[in-house]
This record gives sequence, C-alpha cells and structure tokens, in this order.
Amino acid sequence: MFYCQNCGSKIESAQKFCSFCGFSFKVEEESNDKDARIYELEQKIVRLEQIGQREQREVKKSISSSFSPWMAILPIGFVAAFLGFFALIIWIVRQ
Ligand SMILES: [Zn+2]
Repeated sequence: MFYCQNCGSKIESAQKFCSFCGFSFKVEEESNDKDARIYELEQKIVRLEQIGQREQREVKKSISSSFSPWMAILPIGFVAAFLGFFALIIWIVRQ
C-alpha cells in the first residue's frame, strides 16, 4: 500500500495507475527496482554523453566554420608580400 503522488489517494501496490486520478506509477515502480534504477542512470549517462558529443561536434563545427582557410593563408601571404617587397628594395638599392 502506498499513496498516489498526484492526488494522495491510497493505492494498492499492484496498481499501475491511480484509480482516482489516472496518474501512472510506472516510473515510480521502476525506480523502486534496483536494476531499473541502475538502468535509468545508465540511460541518463548515455543521454548526457550523447548531448556532450553533440555539443563538442557543434563546437568543432562552429570553429571550423569560423576558421576559414583564408585565415591561414592571409598571414603567410602578408609575410610573402613583405619579403618580396624587401627583396625588391634590396635589388633596387644594389643596382
Ligand atoms: Zn491519484
């Protein structure tokens, strides 16, 4: 014998639904079972891991989308242009 979490009515432990308000005890019943509780926790962990992986993927995606190849090419291009300009000056001065 226990009480309905929803309406507080007395419930026979065999019942899966409250006969007064129709509240389902399925989750509460499962959580009373040790294995079910462990399974529930495992499911939560799996869900959290999936969320974490999804977030990591989204972070990676946002990094890769914001980091365009131009960002890598641009500094190299600047250095190359500077060196070329420098070499040109030296070449002009030596003549
Ligand atoms: Zn009830």
